[in-house]
Amino acid sequence: MYDIIIIGMGISGITAAIYAKRAGKNILLIDKSAPGGLLNNIDTITNYPGLPNISGPDFALALLNQINELEIPYKIEEVIDISLSGKEKTVKTVSNTYKAQKIILALGRTPKFLGLPNEASLLGKGVSTCALCDAFFYKNKDIAVVGTGNSALQEALYLANVVNKIYLINRRDGFRGDALLVDKIKNNPKIEVIYNSNIESLNELDGKLASITLDNATTINVSGVFIYIGFIPATKIVDPKILDENGYIKVNKKLETPIKGVYAIGDCLNKDIYQLVTAAADGARVINNIE
Ligand SMILES: Cc1cc2nc3c(=O)[nH]c(=O)nc-3n(C[C@H](O)[C@H](O)[C@H](O)COP(=O)(O)OP(=O)(O)OC[C@H]3O[C@@H](n4cnc5c(N)ncnc54)[C@H](O)[C@@H]3O)c2cc1C
Repeated sequence: MYDIIIIGMGISGITAAIYAKRAGKNILLIDKSAPGGLLNNIDTITNYPGLPNISGPDFALALLNQINELEIPYKIEEVIDISLSGKEKTVKTVSNTYKAQKIILALGRTPKFLGLPNEASLLGKGVSTCALCDAFFYKNKDIAVVGTGNSALQEALYLANVVNKIYLINRRDGFRGDALLVDKIKNNPKIEVIYNSNIESLNELDGKLASITLDNATTINVSGVFIYIGFIPATKIVDPKILDENGYIKVNKKLETPIKGVYAIGDCLNKDIYQLVTAAADGARVINNIE
């Protein structure tokens, strides 16, 4: 039996693991995909003190190297069920069952979609939520980016280095993102902002995206649409009793959920700022709170 099992190997889970290991705890990290979580999908990291312009995958690799140096064990397995009541907690993955006295949920969030009928079938055929993964396929082509927050703006700026033209579809008349990014967007000759508009349909040709139609009836020819309109917490394995109305995990000031011995950190919490520093800070704080 482990002292602590941490589910999620994004920056919050890995930071918790580093602090736990240094505190002498017997721990296990589990993730269903590549260590580093969201970092693996981000081109250039901004706002992380001391690491200006580091790429997301390089940052993820540095975290992986650090857990390897500290000999922290980890498994790449999807967690499909957790049993959290009682002193002994059970974590069931697709291939194993693990037990621990304490559990830290570091599950992150997954991107939201527009809710259009053929959106799912066009994923990878014109629809994307990851500029870093898919930009290459749209080299010198015209594309659309949907969203008004920092993620949408950052990713549009990255895509502008690769594609021919970007239509930034903005459902408002302003932006939610940082003023600095907004300035860069407005001054980028490859980006045209279309305000007060929503995509009404994704139009296909031979099973691939060919154009989009907006709610003002304008049709624009694009071969790609990158969607950055928000997130859904990745908490489907968590008992709804400890989730808020939006699916985020409820915690107190010590990052403990209503279930004793179960903690949650990072982007799966309802918080003001979803950034790497805040996710990492949760990872450090939670271990300090666990006796
Ligand atoms: C496009 C984009 C750009 C961004 N740019 C920046 C930036 O420049 N600077 C900045 O500070 N922040 C940025 N952010 C925000 C930052 O990336 C996140 O706040 C941070 O990575 C969250 O870390 P986390 O550990 O909470 O979650 P995540 O990194 O999402 O990690 C959660 C992990 O949990 C795993 N998981 C979930 N469910 C299960 C399960 N059932 N079984 C096993 N594993 C599971 C997932 O596979 C994932 O690896 C950006 C975000 C996006 C989307």
